[in-house]
Amino acid sequence: MTTHTPVGRPLRPTGKFLQEDSRRHHRSLLLQQLFREGPASRADLSRSSGLTRVTVSDLVKAMLAEGLVAELGAPAESRVGKPPTLLGLSVDSTHVIGIDLSATDRFTGAVLNLAGEVQARHEVSLDGAVGTAAVALVHTLATDLMAMTERPVLGVGVGSPGVVDETGTVIDAPNLSWSGMPLAASLAETLGVPVFVANDANTAVLGEHTFGESGDGGLLVLRVGTGVGAGLVLGGSLLHGHLGAAGEIGHVVVDTEGERCACSRVGCLETVLAVPRLRRRLEERGADAAQVLAQVGEQLGIALAPVVGMLNLHEIVLSGPTELLDGPLRDAADRTIRARTMPVSSEGLLIRTSTLGEDVVIVGAAVLVLAGELGVS
Ligand SMILES: [Zn+2]
Repeated sequence: MTTHTPVGRPLRPTGKFLQEDSRRHHRSLLLQQLFREGPASRADLSRSSGLTRVTVSDLVKAMLAEGLVAELGAPAESRVGKPPTLLGLSVDSTHVIGIDLSATDRFTGAVLNLAGEVQARHEVSLDGAVGTAAVALVHTLATDLMAMTERPVLGVGVGSPGVVDETGTVIDAPNLSWSGMPLAASLAETLGVPVFVANDANTAVLGEHTFGESGDGGLLVLRVGTGVGAGLVLGGSLLHGHLGAAGEIGHVVVDTEGERCACSRVGCLETVLAVPRLRRRLEERGADAAQVLAQVGEQLGIALAPVVGMLNLHEIVLSGPTELLDGPLRDAADRTIRARTMPVSSEGLLIRTSTLGEDVVIVGAAVLVLAGELGVS
């Protein structure tokens, strides 16, 4: 029951998408409309999707039977003739499990409804577990979370550190000693529901794109934790890259005389920006916190300026400890990027911290399931 993560194809369905099963695609068009725009009548759905009334009625009938959508009655403003019945997504008809494996000391997860709202939470302590012991903990956490909801579970999404391929196999996650670990396949076998696994930064950008306050103009989410990595949504698609390593800006060298990095090179962005390294510098005797943060922010800006110049991004979202990221660091990064790019590149650019806070990976993991199973995001 392994299913592919929604990478390399548009996250949101469009009218031009013809190669997939058309009924499933048409259903996604209607669900997407209800998911993004809220309640609509059958006539509204027909108009916005370009599908015939007959096709829409047929699909709606099936979704009503499934319980995925519900009839909400007529809008208050309709006066003449037979008022149209509004349809809405039943956000609690089915639940989704989202799991975040990116912390160093624990795995966290939640039960979410279709609106991305957390219904219940659970976590397991890692206690240094790696390899198959760590996989067993993911299985325990997922099983426990599934038992915490009485609703049917649409699927399980997981944001994992490391490089993850499109079948949900973790190619390489050094901190967990995972190499070629078929995490999605093993979880799907145990749990009996579809499972989607993606890199935590890619998961975070999906969370921000769907449930954060982002638009559609090009979004980069920079995850700053034990390591540093980014996820990008461009033109409505998650950017995967040639070998699945898009967004690995943490290992771009910013200081050739700097410290040795976990990747064996010297002076990667991660060696100045990763949380443990940054905290250590702030704790040094006589350190001027504002000055240290501004200096690191400038190095971040130097690394990001070519990305902004190249892609004309709309938003850069910094995700991690806000006491470190939101202040002199962000201001210096913002200033540096603007100083190093043409005004047209950075004019509409917004650099901010995530509105989803620590939940960004869990919420994004839920989006993996919504996109993979319902075609909505
Ligand atoms: Zn490195």
